[in-house]
Amino acid sequence: TNRTFTMLKPDAVQNGHIGAILDKINAAGFKIVAMKYTQLSKRDAQAFYAVHSERPFYGELVDFMSRGPIVAAILEKDNAVEDFRALIGATNPAEAADGTIRKMFATSLGENAVHGSDSDENAAIEGAFHFSGREIF
Ligand code: ATP
Repeated sequence: TNRTFTMLKPDAVQNGHIGAILDKINAAGFKIVAMKYTQLSKRDAQAFYAVHSERPFYGELVDFMSRGPIVAAILEKDNAVEDFRALIGATNPAEAADGTIRKMFATSLGENAVHGSDSDENAAIEGAFHFSGREIF
């Protein structure tokens, strides 16, 4: 479809990068159709990243994602999922291409500034986790 879901993670918010990251998202042609400033509970973070529950970094990831406020948003653009993954860059900022959001704003592999859905199906699930129908425009 033409929508994806993103979170500006606690490191990006804490480091004052909300405005700069939203500028890059807009400049890349994405329209914001839903957005909120919120914080994941530990339980929310566990559920959101349940797919990684057997990985060694799961506890660290859950603690990080629930430690402070985030910005959650649904973005619209043709080919949204793939194009947004390209805009954010590789999971590890050390491997992210120049000009990508993670290259510019991520702190480390664990604290990598942004999330982008990896499939249309997950974009729909993740968007519904954060937003009701009335909050999506
Ligand atoms: P995201 O799902 O946040 O968009 P991604 O799809 O690029 O990231 P995944 O492999 O799904 O990467 O990992 C999810 C998140 O878990 C990463 O964004 C990162 O914050 C964290 N993570 C992944 N691998 C590691 C690791 N080896 N050590 C610490 N944290 C990690």
